[in-house]
Amino acid sequence: MKTISILGATGSIGQNTLKIIADNQDKFNVYALSAHHNYDKILEQARNFQPKYVVIATKALADKLQHALKSEGLETIVLFGAKALIEIARADEVDIVMAAIVGMAGLESSYAAVCAGKKVLLANKESLVAAGNIFMKAVKENGATLLPVDSEHNAIFQCLTDNQYHAKEVDKVILTASGGPFRNKALSDLESITPDEACNHPNWKMGRKISVDSSTMVNKALEVIEAYWLFNVSVDKLEVLIHPQSIVHSMVKYCDGSYIAQLGSPDMKTPIGYSLFFPERQAVNVTPLDLCATSLTFEKADFIRFRALEMVFSLLGEKDYVKSIIFNAANEVLVEAFLAEKIQYLQIIAYIEQTLAELHFSSAKTIEDVIEIDQKTRDFIKQRFLLDDVMYT
Ligand code: NDP
Ligand code: MG
Repeated sequence: MKTISILGATGSIGQNTLKIIADNQDKFNVYALSAHHNYDKILEQARNFQPKYVVIATKALADKLQHALKSEGLETIVLFGAKALIEIARADEVDIVMAAIVGMAGLESSYAAVCAGKKVLLANKESLVAAGNIFMKAVKENGATLLPVDSEHNAIFQCLTDNQYHAKEVDKVILTASGGPFRNKALSDLESITPDEACNHPNWKMGRKISVDSSTMVNKALEVIEAYWLFNVSVDKLEVLIHPQSIVHSMVKYCDGSYIAQLGSPDMKTPIGYSLFFPERQAVNVTPLDLCATSLTFEKADFIRFRALEMVFSLLGEKDYVKSIIFNAANEVLVEAFLAEKIQYLQIIAYIEQTLAELHFSSAKTIEDVIEIDQKTRDFIKQRFLLDDVMYT
């Protein structure tokens, strides 16, 4: 029996994790679940899984939830705020932490889990993008086990010999990208894209932020940085291929000409299940892949069309890791502004690029430095592009 905390339990990854746990109640004991503002969903999850703790954003929500749970005779204790997220991530009783909060808001709790030496199932890619060197150092120093949940990185992890990256053997680490919903649209037609159109991903059902990121290819750009840190792979060995079917989740090309790939239906339950049960494999409830009903095609990623890729390959080439904090923070604020219909779709990428050109900081040595640079970038963008009333915190 393993004891687990799920950070971001009410999100797309969190809910899929709980589906697998519901089918394997003899193997997992749910210690804690977290939500931000989704009261109804976390109430339902607390009823179903009866964790020791639940964390929600504010005191008002926590009081209301505590009252509701108590009146149903449940003993779950409700906590609130960012500090409580850190507590449920590093508690002694916890073996496994699913880090599935979206955005920089997930950094401190996933970092706390790593520092406590937990088995950390990392969906929150933004942690690695913003703080990769500090995060990976903490994994090593504290004997944590870091398992990638992101489907591409989970695939690469499976394709590596002994799940380890051996620089001499590997020619290329190839991340696949579906190309998103606008792959075949003329750039001039993208001006009027609405939030709902951007969130309508052809193959994957995900939260709204990552769906917009997939459409702009910022998601793949973040994933390039994520792979760089996770596998300690040099930037010249990283490649992105457009693969519209999302069947090959990524691959590794070896020095002898072999390509090892991981294939499957586009369903996050496969990588989530793989990381939950690692090092074993167990059945999860996914629709099996019908290879005869699909074709597999690949195209080179166009760096002129997908500016975000150009930006991150360039910052990694220069080893200018502070720029990845700026890139990530800028994207989060601008996606939020786009979803709130404060800016147009094409302004997401244009303003990220402008911010990278105009904003400079010296290097970040600690998590506190990363958080400060992230905050300064958010403040800069809100002023520079007059986004003062955007909700993002
Ligand atoms: P969702 O938007 O569906 O869920 C986000 C979760 O984080 C929710 O539980 C939400 O709570 C919580 N949350 C949001 N803001 C805060 C905050 N400020 N503080 C604390 N908790 C917060 O996102 P996804 O599940 O799609 O993605 C989660 C992470 O996994 C992201 O980093 C994403 O990039 C990554 N990922 C997702 C994939 C997918 O298929 N969805 C695939 C690969 C990676 P509430 O519901 O109450 O708002
Ligand atoms: Mg991915």
